[in-house]
Amino acid sequence: MTFLNVVEIESALSGLAATYPSISQLVTLPNFTAEGRQSHALLIGTGKGCPEAGVLIISGAHAREWGGPDICINFATDLLEAYTGGTGLVYGGTSYTAAEIKSIVERVDVIVFPDINPDGRHYSQNTFAMWRKNRNTASSGGQASKIGVDPNRNYDFLWDFNTTFDPAAQAGLTLASTNPSNDLFHGTAPFSEAETKNVRWLFEQYPHIGWFMDIHSYGGDILHAWGDDTNQTSDPDKNFTNPAWDGKRGLPSDAYGEYIGACDLATAASAGNAVSAAIAGVRGETYAVAQAFFLPSWGSTYPTSGASDDWATSRYFANPVKKKVRAYCVEFNRVKTFFPSWADMEPIILDVDAGLVRFCLKAVPALSLPTWLCHLGRWWNEAIWHRVFPPELWGPYGPWERIRRVVESILIPIIRPFMRNFRER
Ligand SMILES: [Zn+2]
Repeated sequence: MTFLNVVEIESALSGLAATYPSISQLVTLPNFTAEGRQSHALLIGTGKGCPEAGVLIISGAHAREWGGPDICINFATDLLEAYTGGTGLVYGGTSYTAAEIKSIVERVDVIVFPDINPDGRHYSQNTFAMWRKNRNTASSGGQASKIGVDPNRNYDFLWDFNTTFDPAAQAGLTLASTNPSNDLFHGTAPFSEAETKNVRWLFEQYPHIGWFMDIHSYGGDILHAWGDDTNQTSDPDKNFTNPAWDGKRGLPSDAYGEYIGACDLATAASAGNAVSAAIAGVRGETYAVAQAFFLPSWGSTYPTSGASDDWATSRYFANPVKKKVRAYCVEFNRVKTFFPSWADMEPIILDVDAGLVRFCLKAVPALSLPTWLCHLGRWWNEAIWHRVFPPELWGPYGPWERIRRVVESILIPIIRPFMRNFRER
């Protein structure tokens, strides 16, 4: 065995869909890559339950990060086999019961899009291993050295970094670039690339996606929002939609920090920790959990513009009608190489797949509602609730949300001692 090539990834997906037709289906992505490839994803789920929970797992954005698509294909295979066989899953010291696997497959739509950038992977595996970007020639002017856009700087989140970030945030060379020769070239516009358009299409097609994981390498990190600046939980006006803070983002110790609600931040960290614990359980690999701005394995701040996890998180913040998405980026492999030997890659696949199963369990709704109640709930939300209390006002930066936070900050210290008593009993 060795790393799957682009054709093998596609045939693995169609093979799984053909083998498990009642619990999976092939999803054809509408945008063809620059070299004319059409991509597919695999949707895993019985479609029986309340269609309220969706997980999207993507990989392969960066061509040289071999192993990401292999992790995804193995994960999908494990989930489908275990469900069909009525068994659990065991990854070294981390294991899941048959009931847990059943709850994922029956109550969550898990969408796996293993290789978002097949042109880049093909080029990396055949011609130039260290290739990172896609193979779009639109900005190259016919020069080979200017081919390619970095898909993970092309999403619509503070994409116009020259306007939205402090120029000093470029110091670490992580932010993005307008130079087509650069590895971080961000394209000609947000979502100018087929690769990112396909990811956006999945979010639009499956609006119930509430959890998102983008798999990269390397370092051994699990990263959550935000990646543009330090997090802060006190001032909703400091946020990516506010042009008053243009030119001031991306630095650690200054006035600007990206707003995230305290509860959202706690949830982001605790789910990240759960994934990290599942990975550590396999054979002891410790993956650090942090906000993306402080990428631990990088060792200093790592501001980014136009990255997938920030964009996925930002959709709800920019428009609270959209579902809130808990978005992550995992950097697999603690050994710092893009090209581990296959013998080294195999245990890494088990590590990350154990983490992905835990990630999907986080998405299983706490309540098991009958389908009709689900639809009633959705109707109630859209027809009544959203009109009485428009989500624009309830959203993370809205006045209702601010009142709620003030009330919470007064009430929580009062009720906390009673809650502790209650728990001790
Ligand atoms: Zn990457």
